[in-house]
Amino acid sequence: MKIAIDGPAGAGKSTVAQLVAKQLGFTYIDTGAMYRALTWLAIEQQVSPEDEQALLKLLDASAISLEQQSHGQLVLIGNREVTNEIRRPEVTRHVSAVAKHAKIREQMVQQQRQLAEQQHVVMDGRDIGTRVLPDAEIKVFLTASIEERAKRRFKEWVEKGYQPDLEQLKLEIAQRDKMDSERKASPLKCADDAVVLDTSGLSIEQAVEKIVDLYRK
Ligand code: C5P
Repeated sequence: MKIAIDGPAGAGKSTVAQLVAKQLGFTYIDTGAMYRALTWLAIEQQVSPEDEQALLKLLDASAISLEQQSHGQLVLIGNREVTNEIRRPEVTRHVSAVAKHAKIREQMVQQQRQLAEQQHVVMDGRDIGTRVLPDAEIKVFLTASIEERAKRRFKEWVEKGYQPDLEQLKLEIAQRDKMDSERKASPLKCADDAVVLDTSGLSIEQAVEKIVDLYRK
């Protein structure tokens, strides 16, 4: 059984997907973490997010992997754990530029499909229902208004000790969505057979329940 959850930035995909996976006893796979890990590495090695060849070299030389633990997903580059570092604002700012390259995506998609083999998964991202797992039994496109998404991100960053600016966050989210939906290689798009779930007026629990209901039906 495969559950694909796609949607724009800040719609609550990872929180909701994780809880759905927990309730159903499935493995949760956050594909955005893989693009973030490569972006983090590119920043560290001073590789331009525009340089596809150099990024490919970096990807080939660095084993990016996701490890499932009882308390969540760990992100590793070789033996180095980067789970928290890949959430930093500068990674978020550059990740869509890294993720737009077709050859980078091909490799990521291949790895993501392998991860979903032979286990029940809830996978979240931008192209899961359309490209990575087009045969997923359940597809959800999770969305929310830009105001709501910016507010959620604001709260999240304050909790992490940053001092974000709400308007700036809103701009950055809109910019990232624009890049993700306008890129040529598997853009952010709602699959034809996905259920659209607008979480603007919903609590996390309500959104989780709606997806679990789709499974139980
Ligand atoms: O989900 P998250 O916001 O962590 O994803 C970070 C970025 O990774 C997205 O803005 C997008 O550019 C890229 N991404 C993607 N395809 C996926 C998952 C994430 O292009 N399946």
